[in-house]
Amino acid sequence: MAARKRKFSEDYVKFGFTVIEKDELQLPQCVISMNVLSNDKMRPKRLGRHLKQQHPTLVLKTKEFFSSRAESPKRLRLDKSGSYPTGVPQHLKASFQIAFRNLILSIKN
Ligand SMILES: [Zn+2]
Repeated sequence: MAARKRKFSEDYVKFGFTVIEKDELQLPQCVISMNVLSNDKMRPKRLGRHLKQQHPTLVLKTKEFFSSRAESPKRLRLDKSGSYPTGVPQHLKASFQIAFRNLILSIKN
């Protein structure tokens, strides 16, 4: 028996979440930390808890604040032809790349 698949609601934006799709499952993604939660966390209680625990200073922010934050990953998603990197957060990948490039430069010099 498969667990019931939870669907993203536009209303969840107020908890700071957008949605990504993976293996035909919708997964909630935090627009602040870019953390991807599992499909069974796709409910107001769990998303609200993430916001409260991880981003307590943003609890009172409006839906508009979060949807403007959500715009940049959406643009990025288009560039990635629908797939979105999971695992290592994008900002970490970027800082690894910068660290690596600085290392190469320092060797050259
Ligand atoms: Zn978060």
